[in-house]
Amino acid sequence: MEFSQYDVNALMQITTRPNLVFTEGHGMWLTDNNGKRYLDYLQGWAVNCLGHSPQCVVDAITSQAGKLLNPSPAFYNEPSIVLASLLTANSVFDRVFFANSGAEANEGAIKLARKWGKVNKNAAGENRYEIITFNHAFHGRTLATMSASGKTGWDTMFAPQVPGFLKAELNDIASVERLITDKTVAVMLEPVQGESGVIPATREFMQALRALTKQRNMLLIVDEVQAGMGRTGELFAYQLSNIEPDIMTLGKGIGGGVPLAALLAREEISVFEPGEQGGTYNGNPVMTAVGIAVLSELLKPGFLQSVKDKGAYMRAELLKLSEKHGLDGERGEGLLRALKLGKDIGPKIVEMARDMEPVGLLLNSPRPDLLRFMPSLTVSKEEIDQMVNMLSEVLTKLGH
Ligand SMILES: *Cc1c(COP(=O)(O)O)cnc(C)c1O
Repeated sequence: MEFSQYDVNALMQITTRPNLVFTEGHGMWLTDNNGKRYLDYLQGWAVNCLGHSPQCVVDAITSQAGKLLNPSPAFYNEPSIVLASLLTANSVFDRVFFANSGAEANEGAIKLARKWGKVNKNAAGENRYEIITFNHAFHGRTLATMSASGKTGWDTMFAPQVPGFLKAELNDIASVERLITDKTVAVMLEPVQGESGVIPATREFMQALRALTKQRNMLLIVDEVQAGMGRTGELFAYQLSNIEPDIMTLGKGIGGGVPLAALLAREEISVFEPGEQGGTYNGNPVMTAVGIAVLSELLKPGFLQSVKDKGAYMRAELLKLSEKHGLDGERGEGLLRALKLGKDIGPKIVEMARDMEPVGLLLNSPRPDLLRFMPSLTVSKEEIDQMVNMLSEVLTKLGH
């Protein structure tokens, strides 16, 4: 069907979209309304960790949908029990609350930290509620998570902000220390900043944060909505720096394409009392059944090693590309990587790669001088080669 035959005007224009409607997806590939195929390095924004429509996710949805859709969160259901146990058995956390989006999981983390700061008051007997977050961080689009985020312009966009978030600089421990007051209850960060352009927190910084927060009786919260679930080659990104955080949030990859997120905490931090946290769809059996299918794939012997191997391969290929075209190198962890362009040609590359014939390439440019790659964790080396070759062709066309 031609694009002009769709009436898209009933949708709120919340972003500028190309005149394409995607109709099918399998693995690393998407097909549009004209039947054109695209190699997809967005994967729903690092969501489809097993690619588009993986069989295990399709099977989990269909079999659970025919059994039980929604008994309500007032009752236990099997998939949510099983997924929570799988997550706690494979992490340092003891308790899980399921949510529908990364932002909602982060809201839960903020609430849990504030509750913990009420139980663990300061020396003057006052509640602690301030949370130190980071410039350029991204934690979601609710009012509190926008306030926790450090994106330029977000402080005034829907003013007034939710108070209590102080912004430090990533990888600068002194900038964190300076912000600590007797009201500070936690530090919250992405182990790899995603939206700001794939900026990893260093191992030393994560370890220094853990030591500092422990020493000052504060919580360490890791937002692993983008970097968790095998994306970095470890199941969870905090494992890269050998630390044990107090709270972690998951989203994106855990649902393999469906809305599922999670808030995890260690036992002594899990201080919510009945009535303080909830949500109509939390622990929904269809979504948590998908979570079980996804996590079970990631836990198969050799899977995470294959992510590390392909991450290293992609890094090497991107470095070669960078050298060939005089770019500024690359960075990232595992299969969350960025190519530094050195010039503001990102949006132009995204457009030209998408419009290539006979097949297109879908890329993301979170900043004009950078491309971000979020392939499925099941991407093949051939699909990495194909992406690099197509990108090289675009760069040549652009005169680089
Ligand atoms: C995407 C993202 C979020 C928000 O998740 P939503 O599901 O869009 O609400 C939060 N934190 C990080 C690090 C993210 O990448």
